[in-house]
Amino acid sequence: DEQAGDGQRVAIVGAGLAGCLLAVLLGRRGVPVTVYERRPDPRIAGAERGRSINLAISARGLAALEQVGLRDQALKQALPMHGRMVHPRSGGRNFQPYSADGERAINSIGRAELNRSLLEAAEATAGVTLRFSQRVTGVDAAAGTILLDGADAEPADVILAGDGAYSAVRRSLGLDEDADFLEHGYKELTVPPKDGEFALDPDALHIWPRGTSMMIALPNLDRSFTCTLFWPKSDFDALGTPEEVTAYFARHYPDVAGLMPDLVDDYRHNPVGSLVTVRCRPWTRFGDGAAVALLGDAAHAIVPFFGQGANCAFEDCIEIDRCLTETGGDWRRALSLYQDRRKANTDAIAEMALDNFIEMRDRVSSPVYRAKQAATHALERRLAGRYVSRYELVSFSTMPYAEIPARIRRQNRILAAAVAGTALAGAATLALTARALRRRGN
Ligand code: FAD
Repeated sequence: DEQAGDGQRVAIVGAGLAGCLLAVLLGRRGVPVTVYERRPDPRIAGAERGRSINLAISARGLAALEQVGLRDQALKQALPMHGRMVHPRSGGRNFQPYSADGERAINSIGRAELNRSLLEAAEATAGVTLRFSQRVTGVDAAAGTILLDGADAEPADVILAGDGAYSAVRRSLGLDEDADFLEHGYKELTVPPKDGEFALDPDALHIWPRGTSMMIALPNLDRSFTCTLFWPKSDFDALGTPEEVTAYFARHYPDVAGLMPDLVDDYRHNPVGSLVTVRCRPWTRFGDGAAVALLGDAAHAIVPFFGQGANCAFEDCIEIDRCLTETGGDWRRALSLYQDRRKANTDAIAEMALDNFIEMRDRVSSPVYRAKQAATHALERRLAGRYVSRYELVSFSTMPYAEIPARIRRQNRILAAAVAGTALAGAATLALTARALRRRGN
């Protein structure tokens, strides 16, 4: 059996979240790896503008970071958010805990800090070489080369592409791919600290649902919030003058407009980003010269409404590492296995993420939704471990994403049958549901 690292030149494209984590994992296996990153070293050059400032990291991301000993460090740089704070247009606000016990939290963490921690871990790992300001323009799997902008092509036997949603490697392979853009774009704004304190509750992910659009806000360690508008792209252009911007926010986001002293400037200067779902098949190319595989957003960019893109990219890295172990370091078998295991899961989270946009921008503000959510949490508490909401399964478990939709359908079917089939109220219904769920192995 060929051992991982034996004479194989392994390259990773992209020192983003996934690329760095994978470099650490491979280095630890004793596989020397070179990482090519387009940007200059962000630790010297400062963070790039136009990417999301912060991210929600939850159970899957933390489990992956734990494997390389970075979980605690990441949590130290993060703020827990135990639920959503919904800000209806009509005023007031309501807090909706994410978990039945109110204890579980997703974690708001700065993208730049997380990337820096991962870069430092990669740099400190024996066998990992980081090369900045190296833009990869494509790969040649037949020749076994990486093509670089402004430099000679370099040889590689294994190429792992973590170069993001607009992956140059993916494009150069000419795979069967479909990039599905939402008509919505996003723009970031800032709520700075007020008198040195958080201007909003820092223990929540804030949502201003507005039907076809919304704004959200996540807290930062410096006591500011980063707000993100998710609007149809044409709506961004509709506000021209500073007066129009100010008036629009005063009308539609009245409880927060006054907390944004730089609103007009931010609105004018911050770019409008695109939201894309990338579906691509296959993720691998095995040429005579090199084995190539995609991971993270390069393989499956998803919309951000479940806060899972990075969590999911980290899971890819763990799976690649596991497949290498299982195949005794046979790269081609390992990468095929990785794709087979991950594809259904990433397809599933892509769909759930699209679906969650409608939930966030619309359903969360309805009284019916709130009543249903309260009932769901009550069921979860009574049927501990057997009835678990979709949000909890996605965010607070590591159950494969692909198993979640079927599990939720089964739960709902059993519940509906139990409710319809009995005139018994309250506790009796729960007992029946519990029994039915137990019988189905939940
Ligand atoms: P990236 O992080 O995009 O890294 C790609 C790297 O490759 C970069 O360093 C880039 O410079 C480099 N690169 C690109 N092209 C080249 C090239 N040609 N040559 C060399 N290097 C190259 N996820 C969550 O889990 N939780 C959230 O709350 C969340 N919120 C989000 C909010 C928004 C608005 C957006 C847009 C995304 C959000 N995501 C979130 C998704 C998350 O950002 C991505 O899923 C994650 O960054 C994917 O990691 P990656 O390493 O695959 O790609």
